[in-house]
Amino acid sequence: MSYNVAVLAGDHIGPEVMAEAIKVLDAVASAEGFSLNYSKALIGGAAIDATGGPLPQETLELCRESGAVFLGSVGGPEWDHLPPEKRPEVGGLLATRKALELYANLRPVKLYPQLASGCPLKERTDGKTVDILTVRELTGGVYFGEPKALSDEEGLDTMVYRAHEVDRILEAGFAAAKNRSGRVCSVDKANVLRSSMLWRQRAEAMGKAHPEVELSHMYVDNAAMQLILDPSQFDVIVTGNLFGDILSDESAALAGSLGMLPSASLGSSVHLFEPSGGSAPDIAGKGVANPLAQILSGAMMLEHSFGEVNAAKRIYDAVEKAIADGLRTGDIAGPGEDTVGTVAMGDAVAERL
Ligand code: NAD
Repeated sequence: MSYNVAVLAGDHIGPEVMAEAIKVLDAVASAEGFSLNYSKALIGGAAIDATGGPLPQETLELCRESGAVFLGSVGGPEWDHLPPEKRPEVGGLLATRKALELYANLRPVKLYPQLASGCPLKERTDGKTVDILTVRELTGGVYFGEPKALSDEEGLDTMVYRAHEVDRILEAGFAAAKNRSGRVCSVDKANVLRSSMLWRQRAEAMGKAHPEVELSHMYVDNAAMQLILDPSQFDVIVTGNLFGDILSDESAALAGSLGMLPSASLGSSVHLFEPSGGSAPDIAGKGVANPLAQILSGAMMLEHSFGEVNAAKRIYDAVEKAIADGLRTGDIAGPGEDTVGTVAMGDAVAERL
């Protein structure tokens, strides 16, 4: 079996961590008996410098034709003077997400016990696992609802959800839960908002249709509090665009470093996989960036785009082993701990597959 992947490494640490992820993907592919064909294309600042724009047409066409899009990260101070739509983030990344109609953002946060000292809530998580997957709706809700208006006297946004939008994100959450511990917490504000009342009705119907998944509901204000009080109670959180934006960042803080956080954005055809952090210009070129978020994003790609669940699990396990064996890049090292660079961390994961 052979899979086509569009590789958009992007800017600053993007290419450095991408090289390590590809090393690990190739190693697991050969062990599992499949191959990955990579086609590289430009995005972000690298595309601006080479072609004048952050998202060349060839890049978008390659993404549409590929089995999955594997992205590094984009942006940097060199391009901050440009107008928003010409910048790497808006004109490159957001435009790609929009063009591919990516509607479900999956952000797993796992606190490895050996890294618990980096968790701001370590007293509350002691001895317990934190392993949360936030499934956030990405293309609807108050960020996109019409009408919108702004005058000196009034700012107007519209929060609207339609049944089909709610159903497809719930389906993504339920599907993810079946490969985990089988629990979904649907987060809404159904005591106040009409859009949330519809959300809850659809969630209840979905729960009845999938009795094998344990469904609970929580108001968003309580969910924000519960994530701090007892994060280990959550498995999959499925929620709308605005609530998911806030809760996924809140839960990300539990992992201690952006360098540990992968993500997947699912669309109706091609999906996109990228680390949650940015291009980290402050550490680029020094060989110290943590490649694990990119490597784990690659594992999510194998799982969600290609159905190579075994290969993905081997990567998750190898990352866990590398951490258990004491390998640390600077961002996840505790006081006095030895550190390794980007390449050594990539090698360590590949060796432990
Ligand atoms: P950032 O996420 O790049 O960095 C924040 C901090 O986290 C920095 O100290 C950085 O060194 C550290 N960090 C991030 N990833 C790391 C890794 N893999 N290993 C070790 N440390 C890591 O955020 P920023 O500095 O605010 O933004 C830098 C640029 O990235 C900006 O141009 C921003 O717009 C862009 N950005 C891009 C994305 C994306 O491509 N998805 C997301 C966020 C920001």
